[in-house]
Amino acid sequence: MNNLSDNKNICLKLWGVRGSLPAPGPQTKLFGGNTSCIEIRCGEEIFIFDAGSGIRELGLDLLKAMPIKARLFFTHYHWDHILGFPFFVPAYIPTNEFDIYGEDKGKLSPKEILSGQMVFPYFPVTLDAMRAKMTFHTLKVGSILEFGDVRIKTHRLNHPFDAMGYRVEYKGSSVAYITDYEHFDHRDEPLVEFVKDADAMIYDSAFNEAEYVTKQGWGHSTWEQGVKLAQAGNVKFLVISHHEPTHDDSYMEKVEIEAKEVFPNSTVAREKHEFWF
Ligand SMILES: [Zn+2]
Ligand SMILES: [Zn+2]
Repeated sequence: MNNLSDNKNICLKLWGVRGSLPAPGPQTKLFGGNTSCIEIRCGEEIFIFDAGSGIRELGLDLLKAMPIKARLFFTHYHWDHILGFPFFVPAYIPTNEFDIYGEDKGKLSPKEILSGQMVFPYFPVTLDAMRAKMTFHTLKVGSILEFGDVRIKTHRLNHPFDAMGYRVEYKGSSVAYITDYEHFDHRDEPLVEFVKDADAMIYDSAFNEAEYVTKQGWGHSTWEQGVKLAQAGNVKFLVISHHEPTHDDSYMEKVEIEAKEVFPNSTVAREKHEFWF
């Protein structure tokens, strides 16, 4: 556990910090090989963002305190953000309750999209086998949701077929989740405004600036751009995430050293790390 401030309002736990595809193995042991999934707790409220392969272990952890009531938000539905969903064990247990939020894509609702990966011949059971109480909600970009003292804001992110950024606010603390996102060649003022003064920002740092030269248009950003956005938005703490599958532990350790030189309040996301804000 890392206590970065005196605040103990929002608890952030990283379950999947990899992008594109899981990358397990000895080369990624330190930072983790599971794809996008984070857990945010505000008091008793449990919020999950994305259901990459990291959600499998989150699911097992949640089983320790049943029944489970949680809200699951999707940034978008690329494989690395949904592939763990069919393996989220708590969803198969009738006493649990989940509210699931995401954008429609084309004419497809979040439920239709998630059902679409649980059909013959891809998966042995359909979404109906998930016996928890599941309620699906279509989100529109710009929506602001309130759950008691928790406020969740949404923001459009530049990504192939778009992604949704989130900002969670609770008792004066705030955490922004900005993935998957490709920066523009100019300062993204609406995004600067969206992350303004956040206690933490988890940022799509798939590449570094040198790699980005040949990856333009892929829909991802760099840790250097994350630093710039954090500085422009007065973000207190930067979490470098959505690691590219070929980036092994020694690469990520170097990134962390370089990032801390220019923005000391930063970290490279490691699976299972937990922070309070
Ligand atoms: Zn992704
Ligand atoms: Zn994506």
